[in-house]
Amino acid sequence: MRTINKRQAPDCLARQLAGQAWESFVTNEDSRCCYEETRQALFEEQHGLCCYCEREIAAENKKNSVEHLEPRSSNKTRVYDYANLALSCTKSDHCNNYRGNEYDAGKFSSPHDPVTKSLFRYMPHGLVVSSGVDDDKADYLIKTLQLNCASLLHERRSHAKRLIESMHNQAPEVIDALRKSYLCPDDKTGYCQSFPSLSQTILLP
Ligand SMILES: [Zn+2]
Repeated sequence: MRTINKRQAPDCLARQLAGQAWESFVTNEDSRCCYEETRQALFEEQHGLCCYCEREIAAENKKNSVEHLEPRSSNKTRVYDYANLALSCTKSDHCNNYRGNEYDAGKFSSPHDPVTKSLFRYMPHGLVVSSGVDDDKADYLIKTLQLNCASLLHERRSHAKRLIESMHNQAPEVIDALRKSYLCPDDKTGYCQSFPSLSQTILLP
């Protein structure tokens, strides 16, 4: 899970009434622009990746769901708190849609917290496992978000295979170019390629 550096919240978010239902915020004519602005701000600060699985979500941008890290059902005071918001992919077998309202405050670790990234190791054969920093938290997140579901496993395995093949017998300058391309946001768009944590394991062993 890549660390997301929070940027400034859209001004309009602070003007939303605490008691306003989220569904109304998303659909009402008065607030819909603010919802779109918020979603776009999250998309940009996440460099176009899902907050949990690190897949590129540019193609799904209009459908991606704004995720409440601490669910609305758990804490109504944080519904419009920008620090509690992130953008997730919309796949049904993992991430936000799979997780639903599951939330254990003692085990959940936010992608905004740099510690979260250190909880995991990404293996070239596709699995994500606990790094040993905190097995309880790592295992909880892997299970709750289904980070080792079949589709993610397949995508990560294919990604690693392609990357390893493109590195084979290459000169150091080519490896440097691959590191820039796979580990850094694109200079023009600001977006990252999928699975930077896995790429990092392969490119910076
Ligand atoms: Zn995802």
